[in-house]
This record gives sequence, structure tokens and C-alpha cells, in this order.
Amino acid sequence: TSVHSGSLPDEGATLALGAAFAAAAAPGLTVQLHGDLGAGKTTFTRGLLRALGHAGKVKSPTYTLVESYALNEYSVHHFDLYRFADPEEWNDAGFSEYFGQDSLCLVEWPDKAGDLLPPADIVLELAVAGEGRTYHFKAQTQTGQSCLNRLST
Ligand code: ADP
Ligand code: MG
Repeated sequence: TSVHSGSLPDEGATLALGAAFAAAAAPGLTVQLHGDLGAGKTTFTRGLLRALGHAGKVKSPTYTLVESYALNEYSVHHFDLYRFADPEEWNDAGFSEYFGQDSLCLVEWPDKAGDLLPPADIVLELAVAGEGRTYHFKAQTQTGQSCLNRLST
């Protein structure tokens, strides 16, 4: 295993991974979060947001589709497309406007938007493994690779 994959024995480890990722991340980055229900996608995002200075609650955007956070350094948009019935909902909601050089976007259930989603710089795969979880990061762009090169866990 490389530094870009490993195991997460408990919730604290998933939160710590999110915090480590926050230290490597930068605005303009798009991250897709893959994994079954309960794999830890929202927990990872919670760890990231806390490390970036968000002190309040981190709600799962299951019903709202997106939760946005205006943080000290930049904005984070956290999507959950689980409830999409049709990829066209992505266009109807105007979600592409959230993506840009000023913000970091994380998307749970990205496949629900089909090919309408902006391309991801990084894909994070989370999976249930016994009592814990496993993770694996993949870079899909040079920007994503630079971020992963800065990542130390
Ligand atoms: P998802 O967003 O992928 O559906 P959540 O982040 O909501 O999943 O997590 C579901 C549950 O899994 C939560 O109760 C969380 O505490 C737990 N959890 C997260 N990471 C781990 C881990 N590494 N080991 C065990 N439980 C975890
Ligand atoms: Mg979730």
C-alpha cells in the first residue's frame, strides 16, 4: 500500500484522514467520494471542514443536496446526490455554478449526475472492512496529483 491508501480502524481515523487531506487541499479542487452508504464519506468531509476551521455542525446533505461553508480561507461545497432520480437534476439545480477556482467541492454519489458533473481532480474510494473502513485516493488531473503529493497521513 502507498500513502494514498490504507485502513481506518475507527471513526476518529476517518476524521483524521479528512484533516490530513484539508492540509493538502486547495481551492479549485473537485473531489468525488465513492463508497456504499455508511462507508464514511460524510465523516471524511466533517474532518476536513473542522480542520479548515468550521466549528459548527456538519449535516449530511442527503435531503438538501448541497451544504455550503464559507470558511476563513475559501468556501467548501458538499454535495450528496443520492436522491437524484435523473442526472438532469444537476442542470436544473444549476450546480455547475458552484465549481470554480474559489471553492473546494466534494461530491457524494457523483454517478447520480451521469456525465454532467465537472471532472474530478481526485477520487476517494471508501469501503466497509469488518468494523472499520479502507480508503484509496486516485488523482485524475495534475492538480489532483499535486494535492496527493502534499498529502501526509
Ligand atoms: P456515508 O456518508 O458514506 O454514508 P457516514 O460518514 O455517514 O457514511 O458514516 C456512517 C457511519 O460510519 C457513522 O456512524 C460513522 O461514525 C461511521 N464511521 C466512519 N468512519 C468509520 C471507521 N473508519 N470505522 C468505523 N466506523 C466509521
Ligand atoms: Mg453521507
